[in-house]
Amino acid sequence: MHCLSCEQETNGEYLCEPCTGRLGQQLADLPALYGALGAYLRPSSQTTGSIGGVGTGSPAPDAPLPVHEGALDLVGPGGIVTALEEWRFELCQAAEIRWPAPFGDYPGRLRRAVQGLQDMLWYIHRDWPQAGDFSAAVRQMHGAARSIVAPRERPLRAGTCTKEISEGEACGAVLLAKPGRPVVCRWCLTEYPASSWLDLAAEKAA
Ligand SMILES: [Zn+2]
Ligand SMILES: [Zn+2]
Repeated sequence: MHCLSCEQETNGEYLCEPCTGRLGQQLADLPALYGALGAYLRPSSQTTGSIGGVGTGSPAPDAPLPVHEGALDLVGPGGIVTALEEWRFELCQAAEIRWPAPFGDYPGRLRRAVQGLQDMLWYIHRDWPQAGDFSAAVRQMHGAARSIVAPRERPLRAGTCTKEISEGEACGAVLLAKPGRPVVCRWCLTEYPASSWLDLAAEKAA
């Protein structure tokens, strides 16, 4: 059996441990990212200057447009909240457990959907054939939200993995580094502490 997200061999699980951990972390980040996206939804008639070059049209004063359409897609109906609720529904059906209907405002619905999905991470990782599609969807929404909220946190290419995997042969995978976080090789899962690659990343970016 191979991890549905990274192809790494697993002991029969649908997701490997690192991919499960990353999925859990991305889910945990979503409520804060969602809150931060709200700042990008001020009506364009109230903003000065342009954010991200959006808003070059001439919206009528009584028809406020979001300053960032990408943010609206994520925050509005059909965005992060309803997408996660649909995934949770699928998951509960697969696991044959009760699905609590959504209620209340979007931030509350998001918190409950995230919590419900996190509580089931063990099942997602071990027993859910849709784990690959689900983790891809979460990665996509997490990345889209982050690219709006924290565009500078895009990963940097930080050289290649030097871990020796067979005699005299290094792994060689391209390492993608994010400021302040340890980097994990996608191929061999070797973990590099932040200190060892930050310099490398800075060199590459210069
Ligand atoms: Zn994996
Ligand atoms: Zn490697």
